[in-house]
Amino acid sequence: MHETDMTRALILTVKDWWDAQTEPPRIERIHLTVGKFTCVEPVSLQFSFEVQRQGTFLAETELVIEEIPLVAFCHPCQQSYEPEIGLHYACPQCQSPMEDIRSGRELKIDRLEYCTDSTPSQAYAPNI
Ligand SMILES: [Zn+2]
Repeated sequence: MHETDMTRALILTVKDWWDAQTEPPRIERIHLTVGKFTCVEPVSLQFSFEVQRQGTFLAETELVIEEIPLVAFCHPCQQSYEPEIGLHYACPQCQSPMEDIRSGRELKIDRLEYCTDSTPSQAYAPNI
């Protein structure tokens, strides 16, 4: 299952960062950006995260997923459009095949929300 492997990679990435901190913080939320064109199901991702975080340093951590729509750009028409995933990948105006994807393939950790004893308010670790 695709999402299981992804979750494992996600946890390892965060763990690397966490281990590198002088004072390992308590991570409250992981914000994830998931493009609709990655074929990753946010529901499945949430589920495997909840399974895999048990007993780890992320046991109390919440996974927040932001979905990014698939947007393509048609050069002949000079306009962007949102293809229907699984149904129709051509420009709705001129029917040119989709070739220039502007968004929807993202799959990354957007930021972490965490706190430590010496950091009373929430801090952010963007783009790790
Ligand atoms: Zn077009």
